Amino acid sequence: SEASTNEQEYVLKVVLIGDSGVGKSNLVQRFTKNKYNEASTQTIGFEFASKTIRVGDRRIKAQIWDTAGQERFQSLTAAYYRNAVGALIVYDITNRASFEHVTHWLAQIHEHAHENVVLILVGNKVDLAHRPNTRQVSTLEAARFAETHHMEFVEASALDSTNVVEAFKRIIVPVGRLLM
Ligand code: GDP
Ligand code: MG
Repeated sequence: SEASTNEQEYVLKVVLIGDSGVGKSNLVQRFTKNKYNEASTQTIGFEFASKTIRVGDRRIKAQIWDTAGQERFQSLTAAYYRNAVGALIVYDITNRASFEHVTHWLAQIHEHAHENVVLILVGNKVDLAHRPNTRQVSTLEAARFAETHHMEFVEASALDSTNVVEAFKRIIVPVGRLLM
């Protein structure tokens, strides 16, 4: 029937990249389960989590790939990037080096992913920004960098949920609309 045709579910692969410790696993858990782990989750190392969202009258299943610690070696396999329609490149606003390394992660994604992959730069841990002397990357600098490299940009917090759903939706919704 018409109704069941409309309920067809599309699966879109989204990957998270960025340095170890920036909060990738917590962003995934916040988005898919509304959970946060104070302790680092990197030893748990799940391969992917899923979350279904509605775009128009379509159900889009975002299959979100997270690293299991391999990012410490600054390199992820080609299979990790394969068929990804979107990527969140994550840095930590309190860790300058993690922002400097975004260039490296961008080069990797351009090498391995589809040329039309939708990218969003995510400055995580914005909950810490109110504390004096913690922020090491200004919003303006990161926004300019994202614009130069044709990426969306958002500052987020897996801890207090700021902009987490927003970050994922800025990738999933535009790609989902292309399917209609
Ligand atoms: P990953 O290595 O990139 O997957 O990072 P994790 O998700 O394992 O997080 C690394 C550490 O940063 C953990 O101790 C988390 O509790 C902490 N963390 C993650 N996200 C946030 C956040 O939004 N705010 C703060 N303050 N800490 C965070
Ligand atoms: Mg992790």
